[in-house]
Amino acid sequence: MKPLIGITADTIREQPPSERLMKYGQSYTYSDAILAAGGVPIILPVTKNIEQVRDVSILLDGIVFAGGNDVHPKLYGHEITGARNIDLARDQHELRLLGNALSSRKPVLAICRGLQLLNVAMGGTLYQDIATDVPEAINHNGYKRNEGVDILLHDLDIERGSRLARILGTTAIQSNSFHHQAIDALAPSLHATAWAPDGIIEAVETDNDHFLIGIQAHPESIPTRIEPRWRKLFKAFVDACL
Ligand code: MN
Repeated sequence: MKPLIGITADTIREQPPSERLMKYGQSYTYSDAILAAGGVPIILPVTKNIEQVRDVSILLDGIVFAGGNDVHPKLYGHEITGARNIDLARDQHELRLLGNALSSRKPVLAICRGLQLLNVAMGGTLYQDIATDVPEAINHNGYKRNEGVDILLHDLDIERGSRLARILGTTAIQSNSFHHQAIDALAPSLHATAWAPDGIIEAVETDNDHFLIGIQAHPESIPTRIEPRWRKLFKAFVDACL
């Protein structure tokens, strides 16, 4: 049996915004990365139905907390300053999914917003807008550039001996970067394992043997011809879900 991997959906609003035309969906790159690593991907729609979340949590072998909406700042006790494209229903849905994954110790791979949600769920806080809150930071938003989405925007310095370094087989690698928020106060039970050159936290994990990795980059959308080592992260995650 191949492992069944849930991928959290983004809430996508039409322009002009319309609740009636809102969509639940996610970039094909997540599904393709899970398929290529030997898993069976399934995209998880947002729901307020706790029973549904519990049922789907039992079926899944692991969860990818995917990118998209900013986490509502009230979940870490702050007013909205730089956060945008907020969807509290998505936050609440994913917090329930995450709680179930933590209590059942099912593997978690938290990407971009996923890492931010993980940090908030465990008691940390976020920079709501890096450019505003950390003016000395480098550019972390690849969308600002015209070179296309495949560019690797900055270096990562990965902690030697961390789960991430062991999986990738290196402590120095380049990543893409499509985020305007980042971890400010790190949650007590998380361990930072990678940093951008400006000190922004780019990866986290736990110190126990539960497979739980958060990554600020989007490794699912880095083509193998540009940096093949990122595929090892998906392989290790799917293998952990077996
Ligand atoms: Mn970055």
